[in-house]
Amino acid sequence: MVIEDENPYLLLTPGPLSTTPTVKRVMMRDWCTWDDDYNVDVVQVIRKQLVELAGGSPDAHTAVLMQGSGTFSVESVIGSVIPADGKLLVLANGAYGQRLAKIADRLKIALIVEDSGDLSPPNSAKLRQTLLDDPTITHVTLVHGETTTGMLNPLETIAPIVKEAGRVLIVDAMCTFGGVPLDVTQLGIDFVISSANKCIQGVPGFGFIVASRKALEATEGRARSLSLDLFDQWKTMESGNGGKWRYTSPTHTVRAFAQALKELQEEGGIAARCARYTESQRVLSEGMVELGFPSLLPKEVQSPIITAFPFPDDPGFEFKQLYEDLKGRGFVIYPGKVTDRDTFRIGTIGNVNADDIRRLLEAIKEARS
Ligand SMILES: *Cc1c(COP(=O)(O)O)cnc(C)c1O
Repeated sequence: MVIEDENPYLLLTPGPLSTTPTVKRVMMRDWCTWDDDYNVDVVQVIRKQLVELAGGSPDAHTAVLMQGSGTFSVESVIGSVIPADGKLLVLANGAYGQRLAKIADRLKIALIVEDSGDLSPPNSAKLRQTLLDDPTITHVTLVHGETTTGMLNPLETIAPIVKEAGRVLIVDAMCTFGGVPLDVTQLGIDFVISSANKCIQGVPGFGFIVASRKALEATEGRARSLSLDLFDQWKTMESGNGGKWRYTSPTHTVRAFAQALKELQEEGGIAARCARYTESQRVLSEGMVELGFPSLLPKEVQSPIITAFPFPDDPGFEFKQLYEDLKGRGFVIYPGKVTDRDTFRIGTIGNVNADDIRRLLEAIKEARS
């Protein structure tokens, strides 16, 4: 049976994104959650591969899968690893950094937020001082790629500061993991979080955490939620032959994810995928300048994942109209989220390449003429 790709348009969004027909096709089969064909052959293989992709080693690192969208995994980590007398420092520069703070606040975790504003990376001198001044801070968290603006935060300068100060580091790498290289061993990241429907190019339904075994082992009994208990989920996934989830798992999504990981490998791994995204982003930002839409961010901090464009001065410009026009021409773009100005965003992740972006630029040109 040949299944045609039925997509009427490409998703140029930060996930869910356009997946390959082969990823979608493996969902055409039902799986039993307690059979080894699923647990050992699918889930355990995924967990092992995630540790490898993160630059971890099987002795020092482990991976836990968690039901729900990416935010559920973030909430699982924040709610499960910070002890009752702990304190979290959040480095925020956009809506997703603010969401980290909101989760901690809702869970009544002691919290400090250092917000550098949407357009600036975290201030490392200030971070060093804050950690020095407040020894009660136990954990530090930040977003790797801030999807609000498309900014890539400088983990390679932030992580060593947190590690030298002896604090636990939690990174929301939701929209970058698998698309931008990141090495948990080299950076000493204790918990890194992402989800199935971003740069691994799977479909939505679960998130995952790559954790330092030592850091995770220390968290027993800390969870503030039953279903989001990271330690319990991990213990269950490790027990017996392994690969069991505590509650019903998104079997179809998990199968799609396994296929997506295979395709990531076939593409040449994270470096090759990053090169494809980077080329698409370059074609996009250069082409958009020519069409009168310079990017919000300077090149140095722009990620290859998603690009934000301020609305043009043109008083006749209406985002909704551009959106509908482009949708009719086969492209779905994304509204903005920057707090103090109007922007729209275009993602360059998923099963999308530079030629698709060239076609998009043609479509924008036609829509605007
Ligand atoms: C997508 C994303 C999330 C999670 O969003 P969900 O809608 O819960 O999947 C969290 N952080 C960042 C940076 C993201 O891009």
